[in-house]
Amino acid sequence: MDIPYSILNPEETLNAVPKGSMATADLSSQQTNKEPIKLFSKAKVNGTEYHCLDVVKIKQNEFSTYVAKILKIMSRSADKDIPCAQVQWYYKKGDMNFDILRLSEADQVFIGDNEVFPTNHKDIIPLESIICKVQVLHLSEYQDCSLVNQSIFYTRAKFDVIQNRLFPPFSKWDKLCICEKPQNPNMLYIGCEMCDKWVHPECVGIKDGNIEDVKYYCNPCKKKKKREKKLEKKKRKIEEYKKYREHFD
Ligand SMILES: [Zn+2]
Ligand SMILES: [Zn+2]
Repeated sequence: MDIPYSILNPEETLNAVPKGSMATADLSSQQTNKEPIKLFSKAKVNGTEYHCLDVVKIKQNEFSTYVAKILKIMSRSADKDIPCAQVQWYYKKGDMNFDILRLSEADQVFIGDNEVFPTNHKDIIPLESIICKVQVLHLSEYQDCSLVNQSIFYTRAKFDVIQNRLFPPFSKWDKLCICEKPQNPNMLYIGCEMCDKWVHPECVGIKDGNIEDVKYYCNPCKKKKKREKKLEKKKRKIEEYKKYREHFD
């Protein structure tokens, strides 16, 4: 059951898209008259088949895109059988209202370019504004993902557009470095040679230029290393003394 492809006014795509603190739009309010909506299990857009629950990139304008999850694929007879999808938005950094969230500019720096926030904001969009399928991973999976590209996003918090709140809140996000700030995969980090602690080079006085040659040890590991060296020296001295005694015995 494929929905035919149809051309829509690009303006309509733009209008259907959220900006920050817009209220949730539900399906019934967008139905212009009470004519039935036909539901479909899948749809084809530009040769690609899409299903419900696929996460997709949606065209905003020539330069930017949105990310959303397809909830329903439908044809609205009220709109002359325009193939549509009900979607649930993932907000990006640029869609968030940080004033309401009380997130300072210094803290916003720790939200990455590929970070998205699943929301409870739903809309109906024309199917033809769908560009491609994308993947949204949890931040922990994203870190281990060697193939980072424009179609892979990550998330670590949900955004409730009605309550204007992040879950978990920014203050509860996992922290890194001695500055104790959340990780931003766009930033440069250097790992301790002994344990798995990661820090911003500038936070531990390392200049960016020679980062590859630097062997960094965090403070606890530095102390541990010193203790181990001392112990080794002691052991060596005992061995030397033993050999010396053997020589005379
Ligand atoms: Zn730091
Ligand atoms: Zn360490």
